[in-house]
Amino acid sequence: MKDGGKARPTFPARLPVSSPPPALRQTVARVSQPALSAVQPVPRPAIKTAAPVRTVAASGVGMDSSAVRAAMVRKIQAQGVSHTGVLAALQAVERHRFVDSALVNQAYEDTSLPIGLGQTISKPGVVARMIELLCASQAGKLGRVLEIGTGCGYQAAVLAHVAREVYSIERLRGLHEKARENLRAFRISNLHLLFGDGMVGYAKGAPYAAIIAAAGGNDIPQAWIDQLAVGGRLVAPAVTAAGQQNLVVVDKTATGIVRTELEAVFFVPLKSGIA
Ligand code: SAH
Repeated sequence: MKDGGKARPTFPARLPVSSPPPALRQTVARVSQPALSAVQPVPRPAIKTAAPVRTVAASGVGMDSSAVRAAMVRKIQAQGVSHTGVLAALQAVERHRFVDSALVNQAYEDTSLPIGLGQTISKPGVVARMIELLCASQAGKLGRVLEIGTGCGYQAAVLAHVAREVYSIERLRGLHEKARENLRAFRISNLHLLFGDGMVGYAKGAPYAAIIAAAGGNDIPQAWIDQLAVGGRLVAPAVTAAGQQNLVVVDKTATGIVRTELEAVFFVPLKSGIA
């Protein structure tokens, strides 16, 4: 990075408005991110050696995160996800806004991350896979969708891009509130967050064109199948006969229920009741 002979900005930074070099742009972003500065006080060497992922940590406001997100989307595409609406939704939703500031530099890795209360934000690759399975069941946008396990709200935000209406339910009050906080800035008018036990679904919103669960139980609760519209599809992790957790797809057809078991997955447990 060639910034050797130039005067480095001081705090607060005063920089030329017209096209600053990348290193300076990152510095500006860091200055405008007080929360991050508080956690990681002004690490100048980090700015100098910034790698693409570090750029996201430095900006934290989406200034440069689009390119890092595009790289994540390309990897997910390489894993076999091809639905353009799903890929566009993953490109649009800023995953770094859903994780703690200390984990921001891992936000665009295809990994689950802790979100508090023993829960995790799902791997983006798995989010993409599951939503693609839902979208594949119908042409165009999904209708009303029920998500069980809001967690930090990331998947709910992705769903809101591909569905007309999303109801997302969380059993842990702390996470329900965290999701509300995380999602506030996005102002997503077609997403409704609910606090309650998703094991019983949400009958008031039924029937659903699609149901997706982010937590896995021993089986698929009957309430979910009851609340699925005819022609609708449910995708959820569940323990199969082999004793391991797999993705399960349930299609509700005019002639009955069709259940398909797919690859093994690792989701947090589906629990009953609220806490
Ligand atoms: N959708 C999240 C993943 C959250 S992890 C994402 O975007 O990454 C799964 C969540 O399911 C946890 O927050 C857990 O508390 C919640 N959960 C487990 N059992 C539940 C139930 N019966 N009803 C509602 N939420 C439940």
